[in-house]
Amino acid sequence: MRPVPAIAATATADPSAPVDRASAARFVDREVVPRVAEYERAGRVPEDLLASVSAAGLWAPFLPVEAGGQGIDLLTLGAVHEEVGRGCSSLRSLLTVHTMVAWAVQRWGDTGQRTRWLTGLASGSVLGAFCLTEPEVGSDATQISTSARRRGSDWVLTGIKRWITNGQRADLFLVLARTERGVAAFLVPRDAPGVEVVPIDGMLGTRSSMLAEVRLRDAVAGPDALLGPDGFAAGMVMTGVLDLGRYSVAAGSVGIVQACVDACAEYTTSRRVGGGPLRDLQLIRARLTDMVTDLYAARALCDRAGRLKDAGAADSLMATFIAKYFASQAAARHASAAVQIHGAAGCAEDAPVARFYRDAKVMEIIEGSTEIQQITIADEVFRRVVR
Ligand SMILES: Cc1cc2nc3c(=O)[nH]c(=O)nc-3n(C[C@H](O)[C@H](O)[C@H](O)COP(=O)(O)OP(=O)(O)OC[C@H]3O[C@@H](n4cnc5c(N)ncnc54)[C@H](O)[C@@H]3O)c2cc1C
Repeated sequence: MRPVPAIAATATADPSAPVDRASAARFVDREVVPRVAEYERAGRVPEDLLASVSAAGLWAPFLPVEAGGQGIDLLTLGAVHEEVGRGCSSLRSLLTVHTMVAWAVQRWGDTGQRTRWLTGLASGSVLGAFCLTEPEVGSDATQISTSARRRGSDWVLTGIKRWITNGQRADLFLVLARTERGVAAFLVPRDAPGVEVVPIDGMLGTRSSMLAEVRLRDAVAGPDALLGPDGFAAGMVMTGVLDLGRYSVAAGSVGIVQACVDACAEYTTSRRVGGGPLRDLQLIRARLTDMVTDLYAARALCDRAGRLKDAGAADSLMATFIAKYFASQAAARHASAAVQIHGAAGCAEDAPVARFYRDAKVMEIIEGSTEIQQITIADEVFRRVVR
């Protein structure tokens, strides 16, 4: 097997320096904001920026110290992903799926799997991607058809996974597949025989998140590929990995709203209309007020979800559904308003608000679309009220 490539460490930050909202904000302002427009045009997050993420210790700071992480809590992780989302939703998407994989290995891996993968996932020398969606199956994840079977001591997987964030670049795929016992999760190295990666470019938003179709043609994942018990993944995915991904997307959506507020406050101060600055117009102020109000509300919902997760409370799942439902729609609504406030200047391809607008639409689709959140949240209400 091809050795997992180490990311060239060109960056100088110290991965042992504490990761929190403030350090993430500094990282984003220094390393991401100045160049995001350029690399979004190129359609991939550059290798040296991936190395900077490693150097800043941002890939999986929630992992325990002995695994190479910093053991930060999920409330703080949400704040970190919000800050990254403020700068670039593509990069935040890479962090999201990587987080899902690292979390799954930490939570459900056996000693051998943890030893093999966790240090690399913590440092970023191994990047993860999450493979659930298939050409015929998206929202209803229980219907996946990718299969996994034993051949000798190996697990062999067959099927196609589509729209896989960071599929072009990831070293390790967490693949959901069907066995005789139900749905199970598998760790599939990118260089396993039978794995083919086909890039998907030209997406509406998160344009540099390096999407791919991952084709598994009797892919030989090895004897230690099964993560957690066979047939256990449906519950595991619903309650664990997808929940964490949803939390990250909710936080990233808050970051988009913050970015809209910042861009609009700045632009309306410098732009003059009818002899005065745009910011003096009451209709503009009303829009900004709505934006800021939703920003605080969405952040509060995310914080609540993070606190409940840290407390191990069962209600954290519902709190995350609600946070994602609210924050992703707030991002879409206010990114649209931000383009409107910028007028033609907001319609240029490289305009930050145009990127926020494209990215925010994606937030309403990924990690459970708006409709799926509506169904799930309402179901829970009925479950609690009508016993
Ligand atoms: C940029 C991007 C990145 C992605 N990254 C990943 C990734 O890393 N890994 C991965 O596995 N997948 C990924 N996906 C796929 C994503 O998870 C799916 O797009 C999502 O789950 C929705 O599935 P679908 O697109 O097949 O839509 P469908 O399931 O076909 O749904 C189509 C529409 O119908 C609505 N709908 C579905 N069911 C119902 C219902 N019961 N009632 C009412 N309305 C309904 C949906 O909300 C949606 O609006 C990514 C997608 C995008 C766009």
